Amino acid sequence: MLVTATKMLQDAKAGHYAVGQFNINNLEWTKAALTAAQECNSPIILGVSEGAGKYMGGYNVIVGMVKGMIKDLNITVPVAIHLDHGSFEGCLKCIEAGFTSVMFDGSHYEIEENIAKTTEIVKLAHEAGLSVEAEVGSIGGEEDGVVGAGECADPTECKRIADLGVDFLAAGIGNIHGKYPENWAGLSFETLDAIQQLTGDLPLVLHGGTGIPEDMIKKAISLGVAKINVNTECQLAFAAATREYVEAGKDLQGKGFDPRKLLAPGAAAIVETVKAKMELFGSVNKA
Ligand SMILES: [Zn+2]
Repeated sequence: MLVTATKMLQDAKAGHYAVGQFNINNLEWTKAALTAAQECNSPIILGVSEGAGKYMGGYNVIVGMVKGMIKDLNITVPVAIHLDHGSFEGCLKCIEAGFTSVMFDGSHYEIEENIAKTTEIVKLAHEAGLSVEAEVGSIGGEEDGVVGAGECADPTECKRIADLGVDFLAAGIGNIHGKYPENWAGLSFETLDAIQQLTGDLPLVLHGGTGIPEDMIKKAISLGVAKINVNTECQLAFAAATREYVEAGKDLQGKGFDPRKLLAPGAAAIVETVKAKMELFGSVNKA
């Protein structure tokens, strides 16, 4: 069932668990994520970066594919299609294409410009019936060529953005996209706590969910994080399983070169990764 992310995240925050956003890259990825969600009876947010959107052929391709899968695979759990780290123009395109949720990432603008642009996106998205995520304080690491330095958001700026009517808010709390470096300082729970004190019931979002220790994930959920983004971890699982298949020479045996066989271990690895995250985040049987 295709829905916005608003209610699923409000329910998650009230119920002290988190819903995973799993970024998709192609048909196999999407099918694996939806299959895992249905088997776990968990709500799911399918994340689409602008780069992945372009890679798959465009936003209309994605909406058509996801809607088709929900119907043909009998996916009854709540599913949101969400633009990840959208530009202003990207958000407009996704609203037009039929996404159910967008993230406007204005974190690289000065706060006044971030506020002005976020206000506009909230108005347009809400008129069209989509949920909106905004970001304060850039998140470290690299995503689609956008590099952040890894910082902690200013809680009062978070409050100002929250008051614009966004449905959930991403704030930098020392988290990083991609693999975490050896010398990573960990999440700043002090910052997260201060943000939640000011933003109340608003669901908070943790980006860069790959490689954050499980106890930190659980503590973040206890402090108001209701959405956790997972991207790199599925990529690593897919690559490792595909490598194993090829290195074992299985693509050279019989019809092992058939893409339906060649990509099967990678897809199965994504299913397992997504399921493990749903267990960790506590969203199993919350559909
Ligand atoms: Zn992110």
